[in-house]
Amino acid sequence: MTDTQYQYIDGDWRDGDSTDETTVHDPAAPEEVVAAFPPATRAQATEAVSAAASAAESWGETTPDEREALLYEAADRIEEDLDALAETLTREEGKPVSSSRAEVGRAAELFRFMASYARTTTGETVPSSDPETFTYTVREPLGVVALVTPWNFPVATPSWKLAAALVTGNAVVFKPSSETPTVAKRLVEILDDAGVPDGVVNLVVGPGSTVGDEVTTNEAVDGISFTGSTTVGQHIAEAVAARGIPVQTEMGGKNPQVVLPDADIEDAADAAVSGAFGLTGQACTATSRLIVHEDVADELVSAVGARAESLSVGPGMDDPDMGPAVSADQDETNFEYVDVARDEGATLLTGGGRPEGLESGYFIEPTVFTDVDSGMRIAQEEVFGPVLAVMEVSGFEEAVRVANDVDFGLSASVFTADMTRSRAFARQVEAGVVKINGTTTGSQIQMPFGGMKASSSETKKEMGQRAYEFYTHEKAVYRTDP
Ligand code: NAP
Ligand code: MG
Repeated sequence: MTDTQYQYIDGDWRDGDSTDETTVHDPAAPEEVVAAFPPATRAQATEAVSAAASAAESWGETTPDEREALLYEAADRIEEDLDALAETLTREEGKPVSSSRAEVGRAAELFRFMASYARTTTGETVPSSDPETFTYTVREPLGVVALVTPWNFPVATPSWKLAAALVTGNAVVFKPSSETPTVAKRLVEILDDAGVPDGVVNLVVGPGSTVGDEVTTNEAVDGISFTGSTTVGQHIAEAVAARGIPVQTEMGGKNPQVVLPDADIEDAADAAVSGAFGLTGQACTATSRLIVHEDVADELVSAVGARAESLSVGPGMDDPDMGPAVSADQDETNFEYVDVARDEGATLLTGGGRPEGLESGYFIEPTVFTDVDSGMRIAQEEVFGPVLAVMEVSGFEEAVRVANDVDFGLSASVFTADMTRSRAFARQVEAGVVKINGTTTGSQIQMPFGGMKASSSETKKEMGQRAYEFYTHEKAVYRTDP
C-alpha cells in the first residue's frame, strides 16, 4: 500500500492527521486489504470547510459556460477511467463488476446531464402590479455545501450530488463512507484533473462521528446533502435545524412490491428477484416485502423461489448474479435477520445460509421468507441485505394498507393489468417513487428522486430539476426605475 493520501484540502493531497488507521477489506476475500491509510481529524475537516468557504465566491462568479465545460470534461474523464474505476469499486464494495461498470457509466451520464443545466435553467419574470417596477427571480449558489454519502453506490451517489452542487456554483466538502474511500478519492482526482479550481472540491475521509459531524455542523456550511441511514440522517437534520439551512436527507426503505391476481406472474417474479437480490439487496430502493394476493400466492412464490435458487453468488470480479455483503458488520446483520425472522415464526422458503464454497467472504444465499405478518421485525426493519419477506393479502385495499404499514416510504411497486387499480395504487401508496409493472429499484436521472415518511426530508428531492433548486437560493427582485 503506497498511496495513503486520501484527504484533498484546498487543492493538496494529504495524509490524514489521525493516528488511527482505516483499512478496507475485499468483501469477497476479507483477508485482502484493499486500502489502508490514516483518516482525517476533525481539525482537517474544519480546514476543508474553510478552504471551501474561501473558494466559494470566485467559483460562484464563474460563467455558466465555464462550469458546463468543466462538467463535460469530468464526464469524459470518468468514461476514460471506466474499467479501472469499476474494478476498484468491485474490490472495495463487492458488487458484480458489470454493475460497477454500469454505475461508473451512469456517473458520467450524471455529469453530462447536470452540465446541461448550466445554461438552461433560469429565473422567472413575473407580471408586476406596478408599471415602474420590474419583478423577477434569480437563483444563486448556496455557498459551501457538505455532501455525506454511503457506500452502496459509492460513485453514482457522490456524482449526482457533486455535479448538481458544482453546476450551480457551490464549493463542496465531500465526506464519503469509510467503507468505500478509494473510489471517492479516484473521483475527486478526476475532478482535479478536469480542472476544478483549488478549494472548490475538498475531500475528507474519516469517521462520521468526527469528520462527518464537523462538515455538517460547521457554521460556514450553507447546505447539506446526505444519503445514508435514517438514524444518521435524522440526527443531522435535528443537529442543524436551528440554523435553517437547506438539508436534504435520503435515508432507508422497506420497499413493497404488490402483486394482484391479474398480474403477469412471470414478470412479477422476475422483478421481485431482481429488486430483492440485485446488488445483494444493498439498494435503498431494494424490494424487501413481496405483498401478494392469495389467489396467485402459490404460483408467484414458487416462481420466486426457483429463480432465487438459480442465481449465481460469488466474488464480484467473476461477475455473478449476486456478490457479497459490503462488510463484516453487514454480513452479521444479514444472518441476524435470518434468525430473527425464524424466531418470529416466518417460514424459510429458500436460502438463509452461507453458500457452499464461499465460506471465507461475506456471502449469503438469496433468502426468501413466507408467512410474514406486518407486525414482525422482518416486515418492518430495513435489513439492507438479500432477504425478501413474502406477505399474503386477500384484496387490493389490504395490499395498500400493508404496503403503507411501515415507517419508511421510499419506493413501491404494483403488478397488475388493471390501469384503474394501478392509478389508485399510485395515489394511495406512501412512497416517493412508484412503479407500475416495474421493480422498486432503478430510477431515471431526469426524474425527481426521494421518499416520504422516514425515508426522506420530503420537500428536498434529488436529481432532475429538483437538484438545481436544492443547491440554489431563490431571490425575488423588485427593481423600480429611479
Ligand atoms: P450511514 O451509516 O448512515 O452512513 C452514511 C454516511 O454518514 C457515511 O459517510 C457515514 O460515515 C456518515 N456519518 C455517520 N455518522 C455521522 C454523523 N454523526 N454525522 C455526519 N455523518 C455521519 O449509512 P451507510 O451504512 O453508509 O449506508 C446504508 C444506508 O444508506 C441504508 O440505510 C440505506 O437505506 C441508505 N441509503 C439511502 C439511499 C436513499 O437515496 N434513500 C441511497 C442509498 C443508501 P462513516 O460510515 O464513514 O462513519
Ligand atoms: Mg454505517
